[in-house]
Amino acid sequence: MDPGLRFWLRYVDHRGGLAEPTADGTVVMLPPAMAGEFDLPEELIATDDPDVARDDGTVLLATGHPALIRAADAALTDGDVGVITLAAPDGPPPGPEQLQDRLREHLTVDHGKIDVSGLPVRIDRPVLRVGALITYTVSADETYQERLECWVDAVSEVRLGTDAASRLQQAPRPDRPARVTPALVRSACLGDDAPGLAQAHHVLEASAERRRGALAAQASEAHRRELGHARSYYDDALRSLKRRHDAAEPERAELLAARAVSTREERDRRLAEIDEKYRPRHDIRPFRLHLLQVPGWRVPVEIRRGPRPYPFSFDWLPALGAFATERCPHCRAVETLSAGKTRLGCRSCQPGGRLHALP
Ligand SMILES: [Zn+2]
Repeated sequence: MDPGLRFWLRYVDHRGGLAEPTADGTVVMLPPAMAGEFDLPEELIATDDPDVARDDGTVLLATGHPALIRAADAALTDGDVGVITLAAPDGPPPGPEQLQDRLREHLTVDHGKIDVSGLPVRIDRPVLRVGALITYTVSADETYQERLECWVDAVSEVRLGTDAASRLQQAPRPDRPARVTPALVRSACLGDDAPGLAQAHHVLEASAERRRGALAAQASEAHRRELGHARSYYDDALRSLKRRHDAAEPERAELLAARAVSTREERDRRLAEIDEKYRPRHDIRPFRLHLLQVPGWRVPVEIRRGPRPYPFSFDWLPALGAFATERCPHCRAVETLSAGKTRLGCRSCQPGGRLHALP
């Protein structure tokens, strides 16, 4: 099925309409308000096949149809915002020995040994999913639209990879959604500085800039050509003025000199106009913000360097089959932790962390 039509049928369903596939297309019943808004009958057969669409009562709805564009615009304006809770792990938490093995298998701490120091506690780790529509303008008559998405752990502000994102997308959801408190949403998305959200924006902005650079590079050949044409046109004009100037009587020569000045000004204006026409731009229009509650177990640990224990904790997330990434408790870097003589840090902040091994 045409992706545009598929999207529109989902939109109809979301607005309370009905869609039923048949041999001749999809029978669609629209709520009266929606039918009026879209200027369509309340009952119709929608198809993406132009041959079928010749029959009476059948409407050809494919990418580019005004009804689809209107629905897409409405969906983008309303946005797709919500809290999604994943199904809680069934059964008891993993035993201390199993957790101990997993910790040592998944994590390393320089100069330190990780020991489970207590019972795991059931937690929900907030993860943000942010989607945006990016419009790239690479010249006055060339624009592209693309969808970007970014998943960020709202606690560590670390971006999740595509594998983790698809695991979360496929993770089972509970039959009945859990209660969502405003405090929860505030803490993950709307806190004073909303670090997770700021990080998501930063990631989207950086990806969009990279993509814009690649698209602009494709347009730069046309840019160079147009600049080249304009330059050679003005070079010719100026050469001809110079020739006439050199052969002219003094009074006429003065006039021609003034013409040359204004021609140079006109050339500079024209070249600036061409540069402006090819100046790449992009616009980010966010349309999705999901707060996912990813269930897991918080495992209290002690990281030991010799007799010295540093208390810490790691979150085991069964949906990801991994521990959540934790930042360095001292400098907030995303780095391998390092147990120092006086504090727990990481490879980037622990003075002499690496020197320790030297004699
Ligand atoms: Zn550090």
